[in-house]
Amino acid sequence: MANQSKHEKQKNLNNKRKLPIRVLTLTIMIAVAGLTGLIFLSYNMDRIARTYKNVVELDYINLEYMTSISQKFYQHQSFVFQYVSVLDDEARRSLLEDEADKIQEEIINEEKTFSDNVIGTVYESGYHSIYSGLNGYFKNVEYIFEFAGVGDFGTAEYYMNSILIYNIQEVKDSVDLLDVLITDDVNMIQQEMSNRMEISRTISIVIIIFLTVSTAIGLSWCVKISREIANIDPLTQVNNIEKFQSDMERLHKKGRLKEYICVCVNIKDFTLINQQMGSATGDMVLRNYAAMIEQFLQKDEKIARIGGDQFILLVRDERIEGFEDFIDKIPVTVEKDLRTTILQLESRCGLYDIKDGVTVGDIVDSAHLALSQTKQKSLDRVWFEESMLEQAYDRKTLLTEYKNGIKDKEFVVYYQPKVNILSNTLCGCEALVRWQKDSKIVPPYMFIPALEEEGRITELDFYVFEQMCKDIRAWLDSGITPVRVSSNFSKLHLRNTEFADNILEIVERYDIESKYIEIELTESSGYEDFDAFIKFVNRMKERGIFVSIDDFGTGFSSLSLLKQLDVDVIKIDKSFIDGVCVGDEANESLVKNIIYMIKDLNRHVICEGVETAEQADFLRKQNCHMVQGYLFDKPLPHDVFEKRLKKPKYEKG
Ligand code: C2E
Ligand code: MG
Ligand code: MG
Repeated sequence: MANQSKHEKQKNLNNKRKLPIRVLTLTIMIAVAGLTGLIFLSYNMDRIARTYKNVVELDYINLEYMTSISQKFYQHQSFVFQYVSVLDDEARRSLLEDEADKIQEEIINEEKTFSDNVIGTVYESGYHSIYSGLNGYFKNVEYIFEFAGVGDFGTAEYYMNSILIYNIQEVKDSVDLLDVLITDDVNMIQQEMSNRMEISRTISIVIIIFLTVSTAIGLSWCVKISREIANIDPLTQVNNIEKFQSDMERLHKKGRLKEYICVCVNIKDFTLINQQMGSATGDMVLRNYAAMIEQFLQKDEKIARIGGDQFILLVRDERIEGFEDFIDKIPVTVEKDLRTTILQLESRCGLYDIKDGVTVGDIVDSAHLALSQTKQKSLDRVWFEESMLEQAYDRKTLLTEYKNGIKDKEFVVYYQPKVNILSNTLCGCEALVRWQKDSKIVPPYMFIPALEEEGRITELDFYVFEQMCKDIRAWLDSGITPVRVSSNFSKLHLRNTEFADNILEIVERYDIESKYIEIELTESSGYEDFDAFIKFVNRMKERGIFVSIDDFGTGFSSLSLLKQLDVDVIKIDKSFIDGVCVGDEANESLVKNIIYMIKDLNRHVICEGVETAEQADFLRKQNCHMVQGYLFDKPLPHDVFEKRLKKPKYEKG
């Protein structure tokens, strides 16, 4: 069920990941469509304006023509009226007749141009009425001139007062009508243009508002979804630590955080799972492990992945016992090579009972600190205690002092003899570091594990190695024959691809034969970086430098693993030797068999921590002829060891 819901979550997350792109594409499409609409509208508005402008301009020209024709028509009338009033003055009459004819000609010319503008338009019929009115008028004026010319003044006056007046009125009415028509048309066109413009403007505003709103909504969606995705751990799909902390802040503000226990968990031996089953299966384990925990949690409880196999949770106070039972063993389904396996995963938990007034950062740090203590204390659950803070503080001080210690050369090298118990002679030694701090000697267990955890040990290892090479060179130069000296190197070096080169560089710099050098690596490094381990051993082998596995029997490696690792020496850990000659037959038989098998693999064997003559006798019987222990010597300061080099035979043993 957990798997299924994980699949759905994965699908949802994948969809969610695509969503911002989709929303963004849609937003861009809407924006492009909107902008195209706007461009089209503005083009359309321009086109409407230009079309209407042309029509209105023509209307104005027509109106001008009409005004001009009307004015000239009035002038013509005035000449005709004057003509009729001076009928008996022939000379004057002839003058007025000429004037009237001139204007008539002008009117006819303008009327022609006017006709070109209006024929075929709505004004055509209006034009025809003016035209026919004017024609009637000019014809009757001609009659008046003709009657007056033959002296028939009475008829001329009659035409003037009855017929011509009628003609004038007809033309005037036609002109007025057309004027009204054109003026109305101009008004109508302007009204329509302003209506259309108004509509276009309204549409533009609507488009702009729509564009702004849709873009704003689209972008805010994108931001929201991106933020949601950013809050999710891509591998397990649970929240990440940032989201977890912001959830905690929210609970803190509501004053509800104290109702929870903050738990920092990791999977026991996850590195092994990863290495034995491959990282893809390791990922599956993490996913399903997180899913199982998520299933256990209630809605108001939280989980986030910190990184690696580490998770952080908020579990309600009253459910913590149930949670501890649940986390004891979590069955996690793994599918590999078409086979389904259920792994019973054990976890380590650091727990912190949240108190009032503690900051979110401190809560997370406290749970984390408690988790870091589980390994040191070899416990599965550790509750946070205030005293842990002091230890953490001590570690901080230690790291600062360590930095100064290296600078001020406070670290010195002691040598612990290795003894051949067949001949009871010195056959080698191990370089062991001591910290000479404030005229006191600090033993390695006080700082080596801490430096190793903080990843700061590598510098010290090379410091010791270089000092040891310096000492060997000095012994050689002063005619003292040294023995093979082994130096301890942390497994952290295996991550450094230049590890072997760095060693060889120092050996060459001090011009030391490889037979005097041995490199000790602890066996727990057998699994982690196993390939790097093999490569390193082979590089050393090529140069004739011995490599030994230290503390054999305390880590994960098996004898079969040794077949792949071409090391020269196996150092059996003191804890096995402690159980020799104390009545622990099972342990003795184990030591016997280990020695037997190491010899069978053609490797040298050395036992560490030999403190009694009985232990030495026991080992002699097992054909283990090399030992290291207080029975012969403790780690010795340089000068004391130098004396031992000069006098390598032991009385005891
Ligand atoms: P180790 O490499 O296994 O060194 C042997 C440790 O066992 C030494 O402790 C030595 O003093 C102790 N020992 C030897 N024989 C006996 C015995 O008969 N009885 C008892 N009780 N102890 C015995 P030491 O010097 O305290 O070193 C402890 C560990 O510190 C070493 O274990 C090694 O892992 C680490 N160490 C020391 N120097 C260095 C260094 O330069 N680099 C690194 N990485 N680790 C170092
Ligand atoms: Mg050692
Ligand atoms: Mg050891």
